[in-house]
Amino acid sequence: MKVLIVDDSHDALAVAKARLAKEKIETLCADSGRRGLELARCERPDLVLLDVDMPDLSGFEVCRELKADPNTCMIPVIFLTASNDTRNKVKGLDVGGVDYITKPFDAFELRARVRAVLRTKHLQDLLIRYSHIDPLTELNNRRALMKRLQEEWDKLQHCGGQLSVMMTDIDHFKQINDTYGHLTGDEVIKLVADVLREQCRESDFAARYGGDEFTVLASGIDASQTAETAERCRQAIQEGDVASENESIEISASFGVADAEGLDSLEAFVNAADEALYKAKQQGGNKVEQSEPSNIECHTGPRDSD
Ligand code: GH3
Ligand code: MG
Repeated sequence: MKVLIVDDSHDALAVAKARLAKEKIETLCADSGRRGLELARCERPDLVLLDVDMPDLSGFEVCRELKADPNTCMIPVIFLTASNDTRNKVKGLDVGGVDYITKPFDAFELRARVRAVLRTKHLQDLLIRYSHIDPLTELNNRRALMKRLQEEWDKLQHCGGQLSVMMTDIDHFKQINDTYGHLTGDEVIKLVADVLREQCRESDFAARYGGDEFTVLASGIDASQTAETAERCRQAIQEGDVASENESIEISASFGVADAEGLDSLEAFVNAADEALYKAKQQGGNKVEQSEPSNIECHTGPRDSD
């Protein structure tokens, strides 16, 4: 785990770093409040040890900014300061600190307090991770997808680049459930998830949107390239092997693909993929449809029995 120490005194930084040297942690140092904020935002440490009196930004101000930013608000802060004033201790905890240690400190106590906070941070990270995973498929869940969609959209607005999305829905899934039972239906959902995992790039963000619907967010490639991925997925799903009492089940899925290019909102981007998926369904399913205006490719896959 990573601990960021912020103190305007180089001696104080060196002492704190030396006292933590025996812990299994990586330490980063910042010699001003501003630099501390920058490092916290880039490096996302697991804990910040924060001095209070610093010339540019006080520790309280740094802590307030960390807590106000969704990207850093979950990083615990321990104040490590020479100020023994009770009002400062209260203020430190009220602005979001989890602990307040005064200098000179006992090295064993500092280490024990750091370990205690890191244990809680580790559990917090696990909870956050589980709250973002779909238990059936172990793909990202809808909560994680919504967060990532917003992040990727914001990044696109600030930095430019390419972003495309693929939406997938299993064809006649209710019928599969009704005919073979929900446990077999679950196997079909898992098969589709496995296909998405295998066919998509590591950098793609695959999620189970809910029920029999999936979404893949692909940054750095356009909709035509994502439509190619969708086509590979479509074929692999059709060839997928799920059996019920030795009877092989026919599985297919439909795909809608859209490009963020030229669209002015995240809603419009998601709707474009949704509409393309709807079109694919209207045409009988087992199909990849790419959203207008770049509707240049369209793959139709006849069932083997057709
Ligand atoms: P279409 O071809 O138009 O996509 O129709 P469909 O039957 O695939 O879709 P519909 O939305 O009518 O049915 C989806 C079904 O998925 C309904 C719901 O009971 C079922 N379902 C949702 N979540 C799960 C799950 O986790 N496991 C199983 N086995 N079924 C689920
Ligand atoms: Mg369906």
